[in-house]
Amino acid sequence: MSLQSIRVVLVNTSHAGNIGGAARAMKNMGLTRLVLVDPEDFPSPNAVARASGATDILDSAEIVATLEEALVGCSLVLGTSARDRRIPWPLLDPRETGTVCLEQIERGGEVALVFGREYAGLTNEELQRCQYHVHIPSDPDFSSLNLAAAVQVLAYEVRMAWLAANDKPSKQEKLETTSMLDTQPVTADELEHYYGHLEQTLVEIGFLDPQKPRHLMPRLRRLYGRSGISKLEMNILRGILTETQKAVRGEPHKRRSD
Ligand code: SAH
Repeated sequence: MSLQSIRVVLVNTSHAGNIGGAARAMKNMGLTRLVLVDPEDFPSPNAVARASGATDILDSAEIVATLEEALVGCSLVLGTSARDRRIPWPLLDPRETGTVCLEQIERGGEVALVFGREYAGLTNEELQRCQYHVHIPSDPDFSSLNLAAAVQVLAYEVRMAWLAANDKPSKQEKLETTSMLDTQPVTADELEHYYGHLEQTLVEIGFLDPQKPRHLMPRLRRLYGRSGISKLEMNILRGILTETQKAVRGEPHKRRSD
């Protein structure tokens, strides 16, 4: 599953520096496809300067005349907006946007994240070409982010959703590479053996008086029950009990370095 199926579309950008900043934000988050609709000043050294090394994104940027051309092949179009519009529209926050984008590319779709002009945003007509509107929940008294900053926020959320989706197999891989003993939980019968061993040891060291048990064992069961002990951890605990018994009985005991 690749982030190449998500394109960032910048509509009618006036400052080339913002195009560079957006390219940098994209490359940081693993997005590669930039589409520029009728940019006012591009290519430009200001874009290269702000891209700060993400010039490959600028070099491969597609320049088109209309939003319609920028959206060819997209099955999901999301339009970003700094303020509420008159016609209510299905609205997503950036986190939901990440999830929706990932669902779409998992199904083999193509996604466009559309950003508007620095001074006027997207027109109502442009916003109506989008299935969803995305609003970054900024302070209503100062709601408009810099264009490249808005690209950064959404690119980050897309990346987080992508990492979460890719984490599932990697967790499985981790399970396979680490010792199974270290991850497998102990069974109820193994725990029962342990409690028997613990009780016996506590009696031997004089911590537990069988005549006056003071609910010690149920409390310890409750404590261990909360811990989700692995088989390896259980072996360590049993080893400690065995060595404790040897010590209290005056038997020779093993040093860990032996
Ligand atoms: N004066 C414009 C602000 C445009 S800011 C307006 O009122 O709409 C330039 C672009 O950055 C916006 O078109 C949008 O794509 C993005 N942007 C800025 N702030 C945003 C926010 N709070 N939520 C979503 N997108 C935002």
